Amino acid sequence: RSDPKRREKLYKVLVIGDIGVGKTSCVKRYVHRFFSQQYRATIGVDFALKIINWDQNTVIRLQLWDIAGQERFGHMTRVYYKDAIGALIVFDINRMATFEAVTKWKKDLDQKVELPDGKPVPCVLLGNKCDQTRDEQVPEGPRMDQFLRENGFCGYFETSAKDNIGIDESARYLLSKIIENE
Ligand code: GDP
Ligand code: MG
Repeated sequence: RSDPKRREKLYKVLVIGDIGVGKTSCVKRYVHRFFSQQYRATIGVDFALKIINWDQNTVIRLQLWDIAGQERFGHMTRVYYKDAIGALIVFDINRMATFEAVTKWKKDLDQKVELPDGKPVPCVLLGNKCDQTRDEQVPEGPRMDQFLRENGFCGYFETSAKDNIGIDESARYLLSKIIENE
């Protein structure tokens, strides 16, 4: 079909955070529930593609880049970040150490990629495994809001890849922020 109003967008979104926090589980949960999916394993990175009928005129091809096995370095190469226009940083809400690593991941992101206009890419924080008992040291409420503001996150969601909580909502929210920048 060649509907001139119909737009197709390709978005590269990074999924980063410490090992074992549930990055791959979140991606799989999210992608499996939509109409179209495709996986391809590559050295170091898993790509998941999800086709989203965003609105009547817009189809989004969302390419999620899920790091695998390199988390322990706490940073990624510039090549990995190249052309990304959004990011999800994931931590495990039951493990304070993974929350402490969040600022490091955010710094790495902001140092290595920016939007064409020089602004930081929109980044949403996911506190995953909310089906389990949370670590009381992980900030909540106003303290979390302050953390998000100070570190330039555009949003925060408590998620569970296991029980399917907050996954779609967080992705949809990030996409709305990405689209706002266009
Ligand atoms: P990654 O290293 O960040 O990609 O983490 P994985 O997706 O491989 O998940 C690490 C472990 O956490 C696995 O055993 C998952 O089954 C488990 N896991 C992931 N998400 C959740 C969740 O939402 N709740 C619970 N209870 N376990 C989870
Ligand atoms: Mg993984």
